[in-house]
Amino acid sequence: MHTSEIWNKFNITPPDNSLEMNNMKIVYGPVPSRRLGRSLGVSPIPFKTCNYSCVYCQLGRTTHMTNQRKDFFPPEELLNEIKRVIEVESSRGEIDFVTFVGEGEPTLCKSLGWLIRKTKEIADIPIAVDTNGSLLYREDVRNDLSQADVVMPSLDAGTAETFRKINRPHRGIDFEAVVEVM
Ligand code: SF4
Repeated sequence: MHTSEIWNKFNITPPDNSLEMNNMKIVYGPVPSRRLGRSLGVSPIPFKTCNYSCVYCQLGRTTHMTNQRKDFFPPEELLNEIKRVIEVESSRGEIDFVTFVGEGEPTLCKSLGWLIRKTKEIADIPIAVDTNGSLLYREDVRNDLSQADVVMPSLDAGTAETFRKINRPHRGIDFEAVVEVM
């Protein structure tokens, strides 16, 4: 589930003082999650930055289609915001998970591994990553994700043709490579 879906589903107003980058909330919640309990969401990428444009995406068509990993925001600023919100929210109740999710594909964030590692240094809270799984074939992505406690990849299609129809992936993504590494 992506950030705006969570906002809508739980009618959540982000903390008044939460950091906005390009008018986007970076850290939100914690929100109740069936799988993860009270989950603090972190969106390390700008709105609708993805390497898929899924037909069912509740955010609409992907407006920033990319398959290139990079730092879309300064990682230190992201980390400061994660730290600040964890401090505020921990005093209000337990956080069961910090979940890197986002309104797009979080593994496109080049500093994801660093952010996971640093977040673990800040607080003894398990880390989850919600990903479309498209970049798991890359060693750097697997290394980043290996630092999380839970990784939740998705796979919507059983053939290359349905993959193209449902997920409408970036042309640089090979279905066989995605499936093999799953
Ligand atoms: S993978 Fe990208 S396009 Fe597909 S549902 Fe998630 S954000 Fe939307």
